[in-house]
Amino acid sequence: MSRTSHSRAAKAFQEDRNNAVWHDETLWMVRQKRDKLSHNIPEWEDLRHTARDIKLYSTSHLPELIEEFEKNAKANGCYVHFAKDAKEYREIIENILKEHGAKKLVKSKSMLSEECELNEHLINHGIDVIETDLGERILQLMDAKPSHIVLPAIHIKRERVGKLFEEKLGTEENNYDPTYLTHQARKALRQDFLNADAGMTGANFAIAETGEVVVCTNEGNADMGMSCQNINITAFGIDKLVPSRESVGVFTRLLARSATGQPITTYTSHFGRPHEGGEQHFILVDNGRSEILGMEQHRKTLNCIRCGACMNTCPVYRRSGGYSYSYFIPGPIGINLGMLKDPRKFSGNVSGCTLCFSCSYVCPVMVDLGEQIYVWRQKLHDLGVANQEKKTMSDGMKFIMEKPKLFNSALKMAPMANHAPRFLLYNGLNKWGQDRELPRFANESFNSWWKRTHKNNK
Ligand code: SF4
Repeated sequence: MSRTSHSRAAKAFQEDRNNAVWHDETLWMVRQKRDKLSHNIPEWEDLRHTARDIKLYSTSHLPELIEEFEKNAKANGCYVHFAKDAKEYREIIENILKEHGAKKLVKSKSMLSEECELNEHLINHGIDVIETDLGERILQLMDAKPSHIVLPAIHIKRERVGKLFEEKLGTEENNYDPTYLTHQARKALRQDFLNADAGMTGANFAIAETGEVVVCTNEGNADMGMSCQNINITAFGIDKLVPSRESVGVFTRLLARSATGQPITTYTSHFGRPHEGGEQHFILVDNGRSEILGMEQHRKTLNCIRCGACMNTCPVYRRSGGYSYSYFIPGPIGINLGMLKDPRKFSGNVSGCTLCFSCSYVCPVMVDLGEQIYVWRQKLHDLGVANQEKKTMSDGMKFIMEKPKLFNSALKMAPMANHAPRFLLYNGLNKWGQDRELPRFANESFNSWWKRTHKNNK
């Protein structure tokens, strides 16, 4: 069966068997931590429902919330900009930095900047960008992309980080102690915080009622970046808007528990005013979000608070790694967002799903991820990207299953496969059997067993 982009990349990831097993186990450990903490909160399911309702309220009242946010942020002395797409977003940031002669930007993690390819743009325009989240910094030094939205460097073992730091930061040879490596990274980053000209962060939530944003980190890097510089930029998708501080309380109870199995992130910071003599810029970015709002079957993807729980639980993500997905966000939410961005280009990811619905079950804001992937699968044919061999097989199955006599005869003959020579079953014609063993057929079908044992039952 011809492979999808996802299954090809997953096969390559699986070749390093030990690493693949370690990846699977590490993420499963995070999922278990999430379970433990969520079970400690009796009202967990109520919280999920409330969070979903707040999000649905927010996305259905976006024009009012945007207006309210703008009014309050301006009253707080901040600048507010609007970007309809990635190009405008990049240009606004570039212009702010250039107006102030800024040559170096310290940035805390923002998936929006990945979505809009900000770093490449700024570097090409002579502005140095330093990622300050430790995982992101490791990846930046490696010239690699995040493989997870919350744990961007989860796929990299500490020995590799040690070697990288030896080369880039001049750390001790063969010292892979995580505490030592973290301290060394912190020492190096401290200089970047002090020497930069501007600080930038994404946002977890933007509060309309107060015109401020909330940023959750475990390392305090957003706070450092925003405190050490007078020129501060915060950019976020319009889906991050929520009505009030009170509503943020619901999300903060869900976010860290779902993401990493912590009760709360170490730092939950509110940024709402410029420093004395400084500037705070907010950039509200659309980049396709209003179009998603108009798609009834998919608008719930805008509920996503980017906790990564759907990745940690996904049996396919855990076994195939973040880089097996062609969209920059991997896992169940990435499959859906990629299809919304460009369904033909990113259709290869749709195969990375067993439809087990575990993602829908853990999502703290009740995004119906598995259900939406199922909807996309139905659309592959109309998009002209369905797998022809799978379609032929499905047509064959349909043909047999619609004819009870033929179906029952096929079932009777199936056990013969148990005794057939291996080369007859596992050859080039049986693409399905290339990666897995066929199940052993029972000697008697359920149908004939039922008839034999229940012949007197009507
Ligand atoms: S879809 Fe849900 S589980 Fe997945 S990242 Fe978003 S909020 Fe978390």
